[in-house]
Amino acid sequence: MAQKKMILDLDTGIDDAMAIAYAVADPTVDLIGIIGSYGNVYVEDGVQNSLKILELLGATDVPVYQGLAHSSESDHFDRMPVSAQIHGNNGIGEVDLPAPKRPAETGDAIDFFIKMVKKYGKDLILVPTGPLTNLDAAIKKAPEIVDEIGNITLMGGAVTVPGNVTNVAEANIQQDASAANNVFQKAPLTQVGLDVTLRTLLTKKETQQWRDLGTQSGRAFADIVDYYIKAYEVTSPDLHGCALHDPFAVGVAINPDFVQTISLNMYVTTDDQYYGRTTGDPARLSDPNPNVKVAVNADVDGYLKAFMDHTLTLFKQN
Ligand code: CA
Repeated sequence: MAQKKMILDLDTGIDDAMAIAYAVADPTVDLIGIIGSYGNVYVEDGVQNSLKILELLGATDVPVYQGLAHSSESDHFDRMPVSAQIHGNNGIGEVDLPAPKRPAETGDAIDFFIKMVKKYGKDLILVPTGPLTNLDAAIKKAPEIVDEIGNITLMGGAVTVPGNVTNVAEANIQQDASAANNVFQKAPLTQVGLDVTLRTLLTKKETQQWRDLGTQSGRAFADIVDYYIKAYEVTSPDLHGCALHDPFAVGVAINPDFVQTISLNMYVTTDDQYYGRTTGDPARLSDPNPNVKVAVNADVDGYLKAFMDHTLTLFKQN
């Protein structure tokens, strides 16, 4: 089977770091680039974190581009205090990784993405796991890419469960609901939202397996993710673990059998009361060929096994 190409669009906090590890580890995809977003952290810090994590994993040939720094509706971004609580001030659990030896690319992130769609077409997978600001900007600049790209699988939103920022809104969507609305109305998508990511949990039992490898990456990832698990003990004590939000989206992008989906024409509400809600678009409910596949059930055991197999193999080597 020919390897698919993958681009990640990340606001690199802790689960984004695990998404990088999954993408680097999976032999069926070739990670060809990372685009930086804001969200868990400021965009500059997220880019540095992506470079550090790639270096830790020996993946020093993956280019990292800095994307847009704030939402399409504002002129700046203020990091939410809860983001520091969950991901640490530095976004990677206060773990002090060495400064990256190489810089981010100097080119424009949106242009890089559009160019890769033109080059790889149906063989390209995009996985956004932060706000959809970069993808929205790319669609506005080159609308035809929605028909040319092979697969967009995003982490964001909540359809069958409440949100995590407000009762209706999940954080990635809520950061830029207007951009998300454009994406949800125009692009073919698979939505991996809180509906399924709150069921794919990691505990200290699994991070101990990484630590026991005795390698630099095994120890660092155990420290980083233990910080996340500890934060979840405070913010979500009912879960008994931390949610594998972003790495689950990468898993589903590669293997759609990890979820069951329903097909819907969707939009994102931008009124004050229900800001950032992902739901069926009343204007397109009966239109044929719905553009969004919403993940509503997860093969938790199958995914967790793949996640641990991939990460253990990768961390063993680095
Ligand atoms: Ca993220």
